[in-house]
Amino acid sequence: MEPFKSPGVDTTHGHETLKKVRPSWDEYFMRIAHEVATRSTCPRLAVGAVIVRDKRILTTGYNGSPSGMPHCDEVGCLIRVVDGRESCQRTLHAEQNAIIQAAYHGVSVTGSSIYCTHQPCLMCVKMIMNAGIEEVRYAGGYPDPLAMEVAAEGGLQMVRFASAA
Ligand SMILES: [Zn+2]
Ligand SMILES: [Zn+2]
Repeated sequence: MEPFKSPGVDTTHGHETLKKVRPSWDEYFMRIAHEVATRSTCPRLAVGAVIVRDKRILTTGYNGSPSGMPHCDEVGCLIRVVDGRESCQRTLHAEQNAIIQAAYHGVSVTGSSIYCTHQPCLMCVKMIMNAGIEEVRYAGGYPDPLAMEVAAEGGLQMVRFASAA
């Protein structure tokens, strides 16, 4: 096997050089969320999510089909109009998969934060709230203003920031 080479990271210089580009915790987890999103199998939108507590990653998720089922990039998306908006119904969302992975492994996500490449939709906001996740940090927007309203009403913190990724 070829040794892993990341084209984006230059490790030819010393530790002092690397330290200059050391990311903040927010940047670090958001970059990882964008990396996770590259595993998405739905061509409409690649979304990634990382659940973090005490600066440690608990689980990750990207949008894709349930295990064992064909993927959008093999058989096409399953588009339906839901709540007046066309969306792909084949996939579980990144945030849902991150929460499901926690359940699968018996990991509590209470009191955690979730880093998302995009603003979560209404269903994801409701699931995030009931999983006990306290805060959402997201980069890109998503056309679901009701999700923002419900989050505000339920006391779920929604923090948007520009990603370095
Ligand atoms: Zn799809
Ligand atoms: Zn969602």
